[in-house]
Amino acid sequence: MGSSGISPRSEAAPPPAAALPNQTPPSAYLAQDVFATLLSRITLAEGPHDEIAVRSPWTGALLGHTPAAREADVALAVSRARAAQPAWAARSFAERAKIFLRFHDLLLQRQDEVLDIIQLETGMARGHAFEEILDTAIVSRYYARRAGKLLRPRRRKGALPLLTLTWELRAPVGVVGFIVPWNYPLNLAITDAVPALMAGNTAVLKPDRQTPFTALWAVDLLREAGLPPDVFPVVTGDGATIGPALGDRVDYFMFTGSTRTGKLIARQAADRLIGCSLELGGKNPMIVLRDADLERTVDGAIRGCFVAAGQACISIERIYVHESLAERFLSLFVERVRRLKMGAALDYSMEIGSLASERQLATVEEHVRGALEKGATLLAGGRPRPDLGPLFFEPTVLTNVRPDMKVYAEETFGPVVSVYPFATEAEAIERANATRYGLNASVWTRNTGKGVRLARKIRAGSVNINEAYAATWGSVDSPSGGMKESGLRARHGAEGILKFTESQTVAVQRLIPIAPFHDMSAAFYARWMTRLMKILRRIRVLG
Ligand code: NAD
Repeated sequence: MGSSGISPRSEAAPPPAAALPNQTPPSAYLAQDVFATLLSRITLAEGPHDEIAVRSPWTGALLGHTPAAREADVALAVSRARAAQPAWAARSFAERAKIFLRFHDLLLQRQDEVLDIIQLETGMARGHAFEEILDTAIVSRYYARRAGKLLRPRRRKGALPLLTLTWELRAPVGVVGFIVPWNYPLNLAITDAVPALMAGNTAVLKPDRQTPFTALWAVDLLREAGLPPDVFPVVTGDGATIGPALGDRVDYFMFTGSTRTGKLIARQAADRLIGCSLELGGKNPMIVLRDADLERTVDGAIRGCFVAAGQACISIERIYVHESLAERFLSLFVERVRRLKMGAALDYSMEIGSLASERQLATVEEHVRGALEKGATLLAGGRPRPDLGPLFFEPTVLTNVRPDMKVYAEETFGPVVSVYPFATEAEAIERANATRYGLNASVWTRNTGKGVRLARKIRAGSVNINEAYAATWGSVDSPSGGMKESGLRARHGAEGILKFTESQTVAVQRLIPIAPFHDMSAAFYARWMTRLMKILRRIRVLG
């Protein structure tokens, strides 16, 4: 069987309407059997495959099944991507850009289709899912317009002024393997792939087993926009099988997920001496200085802590508030948290959705229960809400959290935040930095100059002043990555595309060679070169 894939398992999937939460009508798009249709976009080798059930976190209802890829499927996908790479790389930047700009337009036009799928697969509120649309559109436009400039051949100073003409070129690495998680299934599947593909690479995508349909929808849209199928094949299934099979074959690994899995990927990359880029976990702090605008800060904290029910790598899990402000901040914040509208709806009526999986719910419950048993104070939330759906958990605010509690330093990845008062700015910085992670942070103050000075002392890949995460995340002309155990290398900006290339230096030597020539003696050459070095030292413009 080829990339046209397995036949749809309509007998295994219930009518699409059954996958929807009871209180919302099925959208026209989902009323078609889209999940079965998208399966045909998966690359599969001959032979039987186990199947993985994909269920909606909102209800537990079955959305469909995907095949569990074996090594042969990965080998087929990589070999197709490898065969397609030279022709793809031979296209001009403008030709490639046209596809991603068309994708951008189609995405905005047809956003409701994928918003439904994202919500059904992740349980996210629609407003949070919409951030995926924005981000994917912004990054697609950015690299479609900028890739040619970022990768164009650059003249460099030559070995001998005027006599050596030197260029730095950028060549695609070849085939890039993408392994992505479930929490932002659209933008994490696509936004790193856009620069990789714009650079002339082909790629193979492995989405998370819980969110394959969002990724398949997006890849399908890319194909509709003109991307040849073998430039970006998709394999679905278990990371433990697909990861090593990809690692044995691809030329570069782009991984987004937990720090634990990221270390496995880095070991595989090291074994084959291929590059890798890792976007990993976080335990992100927010620092509220004594002169912060309280209302704005509370707004920011709500967005930052509870976006995607706290299942964003850049969401806030620790808030440090100046002691003079702590009481007022907490009373406003807690009141807002208690009022958040939580539920399942395929529209913009809810402010927070559910957790995505039983594993996430178990971690959140363990962190909250453990903290309360050891003496933390619960100011809001703290309970699962099975009345709303199997994986809902209330947005939760804790104080008096101490280092012996898991929630203190481990990533919860849920709607749980701990609030701590601090006395001095030095103390706030020290506590913000007391973590193995370094992904995202924010500082809230009316004195933005001071905010920027403090930002430079925080060991995190992005630091926002008076914004929780969107200011840095949306500034896609600048890199976004993690320090310490939050990652290796970065996405966005020049770095986000250069990493998918290898540098190549080409130099033309004119008129005379650099080494002694004809019957020139080595001694004469040494004297001549020494004199030249002295001249070059004096004339700055020459080198
Ligand atoms: P995870 O590491 O368990 O899974 C992520 C992906 O890796 C999935 O596709 C999974 O199938 C695959 N995988 C699992 N085991 C593998 C293996 N042995 N070899 C290769 N691949 C394997 O991550 P998760 O817990 O599901 O995702 C949440 C984590 O991702 C959080 O820690 C979050 O902070 C992080 N994350 C980071 C970013 C970022 O940009 N820094 C973005 C989103 C999520």
